[in-house]
Amino acid sequence: MASPLNILFAVSEAVPYAKTGGLADVAFSLTHAIKEYGHEIRMILPKYGMIRDRQYTLRDVIRLRDLEVPLGDQKVLVNVKSAFYPGSKIQVYFVDYPPYFGRPGLYVDPKTGKDYEDNAERFALFCHTAFAVLERLHWYPDVIHCNDWQTALIPPLLKEVYGKEGPLAKTKTLLTVHNFAYQGVFPKEKFRYTGLPAHFAEEDGAAAYYGKISYLKAGLEYADVITTVSPTYARQAQEDPEIGAGMQEILRRRAQDFYGILNGVDYSTWDPSSDKEIPVNYTFRSIDRKMENKKFLLEFCNMPFEPEIPFVGTISRLVVQKGFDILLEALPVILEKDLRYIILGVGDKEIEKKLKSLQQRFPEKLFVHIGFDERLAHLIEAGCDLFLMPSRYEPCGLNQLYSLRYGTIPIVRGTGGLLDTVVDVDENPQKGTGFVFKKYDAKELVQTVERALKWYQDRASWRKLVVRAMKQDFSWKNSAKEYIRLYQQLAKMK
Ligand code: ADP
Repeated sequence: MASPLNILFAVSEAVPYAKTGGLADVAFSLTHAIKEYGHEIRMILPKYGMIRDRQYTLRDVIRLRDLEVPLGDQKVLVNVKSAFYPGSKIQVYFVDYPPYFGRPGLYVDPKTGKDYEDNAERFALFCHTAFAVLERLHWYPDVIHCNDWQTALIPPLLKEVYGKEGPLAKTKTLLTVHNFAYQGVFPKEKFRYTGLPAHFAEEDGAAAYYGKISYLKAGLEYADVITTVSPTYARQAQEDPEIGAGMQEILRRRAQDFYGILNGVDYSTWDPSSDKEIPVNYTFRSIDRKMENKKFLLEFCNMPFEPEIPFVGTISRLVVQKGFDILLEALPVILEKDLRYIILGVGDKEIEKKLKSLQQRFPEKLFVHIGFDERLAHLIEAGCDLFLMPSRYEPCGLNQLYSLRYGTIPIVRGTGGLLDTVVDVDENPQKGTGFVFKKYDAKELVQTVERALKWYQDRASWRKLVVRAMKQDFSWKNSAKEYIRLYQQLAKMK
């Protein structure tokens, strides 16, 4: 192996500490996969209110106490604690600044459902603190791997402030965008918190964005390498204004440095053969035992156990991106069919309300659980026959990958990572693993559900389909190697 690299992984959420979506899974599993290849990777994360010192054995680090971190024209004192990832030797630094991070929400106030008004300050402080930590530790990584807008000030700060000269001058940055729709856009008045030179906010400046500023844009301009989480989404983000969300031009300009690397699955957490959260473990050799989980899940939904009736599941943030407009339109038709359906999600209040009222209309068929519930998510993967993911766009998507491994056949809209990971079984009977519809349209969604239900009736073919799905391998092995190749390429750059 080439010599081990030093990587700082800067991220705003990570399993098991804090999670709102797939980013938290990726942060956990990608860092572990990279560590397994023998590299030194450490993580930096905000210490939110739900991260308890005792639960995760967070320790004070004398050297990381009272770091003086710039915030606008002031300096604030920040403590950074540290812990090892449970069961591994990955060091995690927690940025402990209670006025900003000691809250119940990560980015959104759970009381109002709105973004915190000081997100610009919060994540500017987080980015600056990352540099303060490196300087105090005298640890100068080869690469800082940044994720999304929350850490996107790191690349410009490195080039313009912290790494202009001195020990960080050789450090490079890689920015992974998990969703181009979230861009860290703030009013211009907030620019002063970034600590970047004034030209960034001027017309045509790297952070200037339609009269406002965007952290993501500045990051895309300054990162040495940009990645996103699937090849198809990478292509769409350059071509389709809805998906690139205003960043297409930069991405096209930087196409030489822009890569789509598919996310992987952490099969130590998401595999029915060893999943600790589900009542009965099973493999593709013992699929009949999956039925026990179905029974359990139906009981949870107060529904009678009728093994032959197909059970459909959805686990999702309740946002338009995930296809809830066409799903809400299609549901009254879908629920007329002979099936059961469970939806787990939290998010947009309007969507929550509409789902709840549909549940009242179809109480025997639809069960809606509003909330974030990791355990129930595992049970749905294990207990359902089908998993529906009608996304309007999807950077990668993890649930369809989990579903494949659990033999819960995915029905997906063919976009982004969904298109890269699910093969339509009618189009390709030898290799098919699920059902894919192309047009973003309620009618097509209903027709595809009908197609799946028809397949489900043919028990022998269905079983073969389930076995094939369960045998798919989307582990991190290959994707982590691609990241390492990029790190190595960066480390060699002058
Ligand atoms: P995104 O990151 O856009 O939300 P992904 O499919 O990449 O979508 O990842 C979503 C992750 O969040 C999955 O691990 C999924 O199980 C989880 N998840 C989403 N909503 C919930 C919820 N309400 N309860 C439990 N887990 C959830």
